[in-house]
Amino acid sequence: MKAFPLVLSAPSGGGKTTIANALVAARDDIGYSVSATTRPPRPGERDGTDYHFVSAAEFERRVQAGEFLECAEYGGARYGTLQAEVERVLASGRHVVLDIEIEGARAIRRRYPDAVLVFIVPPSAEELLQRLGGPDGTRAASLVSRLRRAVEELRVAPEYDYVVVNADRTEAVAEVAAILDAEGRRPRRNPELADVVAELGRDLGSLADRLQGRQGGV
Ligand code: 5GP
Repeated sequence: MKAFPLVLSAPSGGGKTTIANALVAARDDIGYSVSATTRPPRPGERDGTDYHFVSAAEFERRVQAGEFLECAEYGGARYGTLQAEVERVLASGRHVVLDIEIEGARAIRRRYPDAVLVFIVPPSAEELLQRLGGPDGTRAASLVSRLRRAVEELRVAPEYDYVVVNADRTEAVAEVAAILDAEGRRPRRNPELADVVAELGRDLGSLADRLQGRQGGV
């Protein structure tokens, strides 16, 4: 089967990073595209695993060198998908998961028309608020802008191939895995399956011919 990009987008707090990590951990036919960003690492994040954390100057150098498939600004920082990351995973025969925002998703779709785009949504506004730390959470300063941005992003959801409601993490991961598996069975992604089907058609045709001959040409 031809490996393809799987793009996950969601409003901030939608849970797509957790889903992407769980998918990559659970399956050896999926790899992760590690983006570059100018934002500082959050506690627990590792350079080269979660992101390639780079300076603004280094990011710009990479833009000029044509290293990005796409890049976008989000919350005052720059983010970009490295072509080398995506190609490395696809060349190993694995699907590549991209955890990116909507403009990036559009760009990836243009570049890889066979990409599958999944939009992850929280089950309710209240639940999203809780996931963002509640009304008085530590990130309260950016809370309103995140919610406003979520409203904008949700408008774009119909452009995606699938929408998954992330009410339960395990179920959401299973749903995305099911989407991946179903997409993998499309004939256009499976030239070898087309050969099997063609051969079966030929075999059935000659079987019908033989039986018809035996029945005296009925
Ligand atoms: P965060 O700072 O919370 O990790 O990410 C902020 C937003 O940037 C998220 O919506 C995330 O999906 C998006 N993002 C991360 N990497 C990339 C990238 O390489 N390109 C684009 N366009 N968006 C990205």
